[in-house]
Amino acid sequence: MFISFEGIDGSGKSTQARLLVAALREAGHDVVHTREPGGSAGAEEIRSLVLEGDPDRWSAETEILLFTAARRDHLEKTIRPALADGKIVICDRFADSTRVFQGVTRGDLQDKVNRLHEEMIGIEPDLTLLFDMDPEIGLKRAKGRQTSEERFEDFGQGFQEKCRAAFLKLAQSHDRFTIIDAGRDIEIVAKDVLALVTARLAS
Ligand code: C5P
Repeated sequence: MFISFEGIDGSGKSTQARLLVAALREAGHDVVHTREPGGSAGAEEIRSLVLEGDPDRWSAETEILLFTAARRDHLEKTIRPALADGKIVICDRFADSTRVFQGVTRGDLQDKVNRLHEEMIGIEPDLTLLFDMDPEIGLKRAKGRQTSEERFEDFGQGFQEKCRAAFLKLAQSHDRFTIIDAGRDIEIVAKDVLALVTARLAS
């Protein structure tokens, strides 16, 4: 089973992915924990190209190509082999992040993202968990933990609102999404996520 975690910066999705992976492993499941951009050696190199340095280096269209190239390598080297071995793949961001960050917030480019996705990637997760929360809180959380050299989408609350709305719109148009109220305590969210995924695995 292929599960993606999506949400605005500071939504807590990476923490929740870690907790879910630990709980599933403890229950005896074979889990591959991966992330985007990245998740394979080549895709991690592309991650550095895109997220480090001058944020205006690439146009939105070039970013779409770079993220899709990274995703293709990630798919070939990590995701497909794991799924073929019957493993559970937990992926911190996948194509929906490109649909939102490059497809909506940097212009009306979602059709381009989708066409390239169909041609070059061709799969969607079985389940996408959208960690939804008030952008004001997300922004505070994201700023609080920012330590690396990597770019952070600090375009303020308006930007975060736009991302949130775009994620929610995607969630409304695809059955694979489940929206998680990520504004609650970490432990409560984690319990919810584990129950949801356990039920899906049993069905
Ligand atoms: O999920 P994570 O916080 O590691 O993402 C790193 C950064 O990359 C975030 O600031 C996110 O907004 C950005 N990103 C992006 N386009 C994507 C995926 C991530 O701009 N397709």
